Amino acid sequence: MTGKLYIVATPIGNPADFSERALTVLREVKLVAVEDTRHSGRLFNACSINTPMLSCHDYNETERIELLLGKVAAGDDIALVSDAGTPLVSDPGFQLVRQAHARGITVVPVPGPSAVIAALCSAGLPTDRFVFEGFLPAKAGARQARLQELAKERRTLVFYEAPHRIVECLADMEACFGSERAATLARELTKTYETIIPATLGKLIERVRSDENQQKGEIVLVVGGCAASEGALDADAEKTLKILLEELPLRQAASLAAKITGLKKNLLYDTALSWQEIKD
Ligand code: SAM
Repeated sequence: MTGKLYIVATPIGNPADFSERALTVLREVKLVAVEDTRHSGRLFNACSINTPMLSCHDYNETERIELLLGKVAAGDDIALVSDAGTPLVSDPGFQLVRQAHARGITVVPVPGPSAVIAALCSAGLPTDRFVFEGFLPAKAGARQARLQELAKERRTLVFYEAPHRIVECLADMEACFGSERAATLARELTKTYETIIPATLGKLIERVRSDENQQKGEIVLVVGGCAASEGALDADAEKTLKILLEELPLRQAASLAAKITGLKKNLLYDTALSWQEIKD
């Protein structure tokens, strides 16, 4: 009899988010593949999980797969966890699951916390269609190119970001998506200093720059999709429209911006209106 491979979600901060089922599975399987034995060891100790662990990283995944799936083939049930949240979501495990399927092994999800869903459901942005982008590239050029590709994406966007890059990341988002785009910074979710800040990108960067606490801990950024009316507005047209809006009523500003940029008056009018709606 072949065993099963359980993919088990663990808390992203608050230990009370450990599900009963996850605890039972982790106590009953023969072996748990973890990212870091010391990290998961502390969690397991606190939760009376005494199951043996085996470390499994991106760099040793191929070699570990043989060992782990060999055990399953011999009849043992095993589980995979990551340091926090749901394995495979910006965490290792993809090759293990893929290989398990290739070998006819049953893969059983034990769902639970994941920062992407916790952030999305508390962001106050549309959730009917969304895109999870994981971590953006660390290098500025590659990050800006990725954001440019996403500038016209209509669905809500979700990003993971490291705290030491949050200011540069927000600055690049403001440059690519415009300062009026709605966004939410979700930080330290389920933990003592949980903070959820909905704002425009322009306001969000001001807030994060002026408060160092917002540059600490674990962060998810949720960004509203490109509005239909924003469709063809590039950064220059947006700048022109903004300057005119500072001096003129909306209709006049849109009309003059259309003459300057050569874009349709309706497009500029609708965009200016959507900015006003976000502010209100
Ligand atoms: N597998 C995990 C999950 O299901 O969310 C994600 C692992 S990824 C390596 C770690 C990133 O997830 C962090 O850098 C942060 O962007 C996000 N994250 C994890 N826990 C978080 C929390 N409590 N609050 C906010 N973001 C969190």
